[in-house]
Amino acid sequence: MKAAIVSQFKEQLEIKDIPVPKVGPRDVLVKIHACGVCHTDLHACHGDWPVKPKLPLVPGHEGVGEIVEVGSEIHHLSLGDRVGVPWLYSACGQCDYCLEGKETLCMSQQNAGYSVDGSYAEFCLADGEYVVKIPDEVSYVQAAPLFCAGVTTYKALKVAEVKPGQWVAIVGAGGLGHLAIQYAVAMGMNVIAVDTGEDKMALAKKLGAVHCIDFKKDNPSEKIQELVGGVHGVVCTAVSKVAFEESYRSLRRGGTFVLVGLPPEDMPLPIFDTVLNGVKVVGSIVGTRKDLKECLQFAAEGKVKAIIEVKPLEQINEIFADMMEGEITGRIVMDMSS
Ligand code: NAD
Ligand code: ZN
Ligand code: ZN
Repeated sequence: MKAAIVSQFKEQLEIKDIPVPKVGPRDVLVKIHACGVCHTDLHACHGDWPVKPKLPLVPGHEGVGEIVEVGSEIHHLSLGDRVGVPWLYSACGQCDYCLEGKETLCMSQQNAGYSVDGSYAEFCLADGEYVVKIPDEVSYVQAAPLFCAGVTTYKALKVAEVKPGQWVAIVGAGGLGHLAIQYAVAMGMNVIAVDTGEDKMALAKKLGAVHCIDFKKDNPSEKIQELVGGVHGVVCTAVSKVAFEESYRSLRRGGTFVLVGLPPEDMPLPIFDTVLNGVKVVGSIVGTRKDLKECLQFAAEGKVKAIIEVKPLEQINEIFADMMEGEITGRIVMDMSS
């Protein structure tokens, strides 16, 4: 099968012919139709984070397609089922976290396109317990970005605990952020979007942001304090330490700062302000299978629609180059059936 492979960190991906993975009793084999390109894939290929991915690696954790083989011990899935293979490739199912329905915190989890091969390929192996079905109303290319960007931001907004009518800031309106704006609007929140460039500002406005702040023109936190007296919640998806510091300063007293983006740097946390202002600082990692099911339902009902550009797998290195320059508006989805 054709796959895009990274063999050395920071080197170009190569399109190679590799064997189709063998299906174990608890696996399914998915013929990939589409796969979104997440900034996490770029971090993986660069070895940006303290925990490194396997090498060589087939990246990709927004892969969607049809099941073409079902392991002998999997009884709830059938050939032809339309599913996605999310970042949470598998978890143990037995630890305290798994038992509490917090499987994304499982210490024994595997991650697609990181600790195991992912969906930048014609076929992807998946754990039968952890694939999630795609509603009929949602096409493959539309579903792909929801399997990471969608579920991650939907979950982050739940964690932010912003109520309908309150203010939320979405800092970074890229692949994740443009979906965060839509989920926030659908959940009844008032949105302030922060990013840069006319295209992203126009898109954020179109998707329902009340205020759009270009961080290259205005100081986002000062502007947010001036406009609404600080936000009740902020979800930062930007790959930038400055963006995290600005997000923190955008909060009103009692507000919640949800950390989602994963720049390789650290951020100093002001103790005095955190205590006096009673703010909450909380990390949020992707979403559970239940979160995914809910997040897909928003798309099935037409409340959320990823803004995508479809490209072939062969263009992955160009796509990464554009991503590094911040030149992508919405999400790039690779059409694997072409
Ligand atoms: P992206 O490149 O599509 O979007 C990032 C956006 O941030 C871009 O639009 C960029 O212009 C903007 N930006 C850069 N500097 C900024 C600043 N100072 N202020 C405001 N915006 C700024 O990337 P993506 O696919 O949306 O992923 C974003 C980050 O989220 C990555 O680090 C990725 O690894 C991480 N991520 C985390 C989770 C999780 O579960 N926590 C899941 C998926 C992705
Ligand atoms: Zn992702
Ligand atoms: Zn577990």
